[in-house]
Amino acid sequence: KRTPFIAGNWKMNLDHLQAIAFVQKLAWSLADAKHDFAEAEVAVFPPFTDLRSVQTLVSADSLPIGYGAQDVSAHDSGAFTGEISGAFLAKLDCRYAIIGHSERRTLHGESDTEVNAKVKAAHRHGIVPVVCVGETADDLEAHGPSAVPVAQLRAALDGVDGSRGIVVAYEPVWAIGSGQAATPAQAEQVAAALRSVIAELLGDDVAEATRVLYGGSVKAANIASFLREPNVDGALVGGASLDIDEFSSIVRFKK
Ligand code: 13P
Repeated sequence: KRTPFIAGNWKMNLDHLQAIAFVQKLAWSLADAKHDFAEAEVAVFPPFTDLRSVQTLVSADSLPIGYGAQDVSAHDSGAFTGEISGAFLAKLDCRYAIIGHSERRTLHGESDTEVNAKVKAAHRHGIVPVVCVGETADDLEAHGPSAVPVAQLRAALDGVDGSRGIVVAYEPVWAIGSGQAATPAQAEQVAAALRSVIAELLGDDVAEATRVLYGGSVKAANIASFLREPNVDGALVGGASLDIDEFSSIVRFKK
C-alpha cells in the first residue's frame, strides 16, 4: 500500500523568512484540521537558500512536514560554480530532491543523460529523487500520450539502484501553470505506463512501492479526482502550493 504524497514545488518563490512563516502556518493548519499524515505525506520544495531555515524550524518543532531541494548537482564537489552537491543537501536532512523538472530541461537544457547522473548523485547521498517526466503539446500530437514520458523515465532510471527509493512525477508540460490540468484518465494512462517501465527496469516490488505523482494545474478542486486513479499516488503542486489554505486543502483531499 503506497502512502499518498502531496509535494509542493515552490519554484523561485518565497525567501527564507517567508519560508519559515509559510511552513509554520502550514503545520498549524494541518494540526488544526487533525490531518492524519498516514493518509497523505506532505513535503515542500523551497529554493536552496531557504533549506537551512526550514531544517531548523522542522527539527526544532518536530514538524511532520518533509522537505527537499528543487535540483541537485550530478557532481559531489569541485569546480562547478553555482551547483549544489547532494552532500550539502544531505547535511540539511533533505529527504528528497526534484530532478529533471521540465523547467530545468527546457530553460537550462538538461538532457536525459544529465537527469540520470543526478538521480545517481541523489542516491549516493541517501536522497530520494523525485524524477519528473512529461511531454509537450507538440510531443503529444506527434507521439501520443506516453511515448515521451516513458522514454524520459527509461533514460533517467538507467543503471539506477531501485532499492534506494524513487518517486516519479508525471507532469505534462502543457498542463504546467496553464490552468488546464490533464484529465484523471490521461494521468492514469501515463502513470500506468510509467509504472510498467519501473517494473521492467527495477523489478515488480519496486514498481509496486514507488509513488507516481501527477503534476500540472493541480488544485483543491481537482486533487481528489486524480487520487481516485489506481496508479496516481499523489501530486506535485506548483502555483497552488504557495497558498497555505489551498495547499492545506489539497493535502487533506478526500477521495
Ligand atoms: P502548476 O501546479 O503551477 O501547474 O505547476 C506544476 C509544476 O510544475 C510542479 O512541479
